[in-house]
Amino acid sequence: MRCHRLPATPRNTPDARMKLVAFDGDHTLWEPLSGLNLSDRTPTDEEGWPHYEYTPLPDDPFVVRRSDGPLFRLRPEAREVFEELKRRGVLIGVLSYNHEGNVRRILRAFGLLDEVDYIVAEWHTNKDQMLAKMIALARNDGHPVGAGDIILIDDDPWDIYRGQCERMGAGFCRFGVQIHDLREVLHLPGMPTPLV
Ligand SMILES: [Mg+2]
Repeated sequence: MRCHRLPATPRNTPDARMKLVAFDGDHTLWEPLSGLNLSDRTPTDEEGWPHYEYTPLPDDPFVVRRSDGPLFRLRPEAREVFEELKRRGVLIGVLSYNHEGNVRRILRAFGLLDEVDYIVAEWHTNKDQMLAKMIALARNDGHPVGAGDIILIDDDPWDIYRGQCERMGAGFCRFGVQIHDLREVLHLPGMPTPLV
């Protein structure tokens, strides 16, 4: 596993402790099962639809159905990873090229909304701007978080988010390429060690 971290700097020594992990949605936290991403009406939707609702399937708590039919499956290890990050004092963000209300509602349907500290979801591909907003939200809450203290976990389908993170000094790890299970996040460089 070779996930990007910055070279050692005063802000980012080998002793640095990650303060915030931001997770992407589609193809990272959850898998679209019907060929449509969270807000997309078609596979090539340019605008998306911001007002979908999501309902858990009665016979499978990891799968939710969107109000117009498509299904989405939460990665089964997501909850334990969120809970472990919380135990280690790491803030949890969900950062997505999406409509924020849809992200909020699917997290609620998965039963994970209360585990998430910050959601930034906007309909564009500038995730560096979204990360900057998430940092501002955390700092506004009194958390001394800078770009060197955060990492984005993302499947990065167009191979653009790694560069954005590098340019702003944030960590990046490509889900589905560098790691294949969210539990691997707990072992990334700079992550606080488990409490004993
Ligand atoms: Mg994605």
